Amino acid sequence: MYTETEGIVLKQTKIAAGRRMLVIFSKHYGKISAGTYISERGNNKSALALRPFAYGKYQIRRTGDYYHINGCETISSHYSIGEDIDKFLCASCGMEFTNKLLPEEAEAKKLFVLFSEFLDMMEKRTKKHETLLVGYQLKALALSGSAPLLDSCVMCGSKENLTGFSITDGGTLCEACKALKRNKERLIYETDFDILNVIKFLIQKPLSQLENLALGDSTLEKIKMILKDYAVCHLDIGGLKSEECMNRR
Ligand SMILES: [Zn+2]
Repeated sequence: MYTETEGIVLKQTKIAAGRRMLVIFSKHYGKISAGTYISERGNNKSALALRPFAYGKYQIRRTGDYYHINGCETISSHYSIGEDIDKFLCASCGMEFTNKLLPEEAEAKKLFVLFSEFLDMMEKRTKKHETLLVGYQLKALALSGSAPLLDSCVMCGSKENLTGFSITDGGTLCEACKALKRNKERLIYETDFDILNVIKFLIQKPLSQLENLALGDSTLEKIKMILKDYAVCHLDIGGLKSEECMNRR
């Protein structure tokens, strides 16, 4: 079967004999792994479309479970993401997060649009790249149906006295449920309404409205910590390589 789809390259691996494997977040088929013999040398349109971060159009042949890229052209290479180290690390982190979040071959058009917008905005952004990254991660979680529940108690549904936040249960806890769980569980925080409100804000607002937003350092650190624990617990996303790089800075 021949098909054409737009897509974003999440990963590229060289294999023997000039062959490459690409992990592409495709608009029509979700995440797919595809092989190709197209050379990456030079700066022509098809070479640029094979690089990580590239948004391109891909002509694909499918044989059984195997995808092969016959041709491609670049729509946007997102080339300048590589020109700033902070920008590059944050974009890499967002890309790795997306790769782990996506199951194989399940269409995820809304997330595709969001991820594409994230890369476009990251490319233009000049500072506070991490604010955009956490905003994207929270919104991506929400689109995948894994966002934390923040308006009521995850255990009993009460909307009163929401004094705890449980990573494991994925949301806020009322005082009574928090007391019940307190000794059994490690990942319970006291509710920090400022932080929860920022998280809610980031999930609800369109990504485009975060263009000029810069979170303060301590707020950012707290949200990053919650996101990290949360991803490990709910998505089996532990220690993103690019995140380790960021933490070492
Ligand atoms: Zn409760």
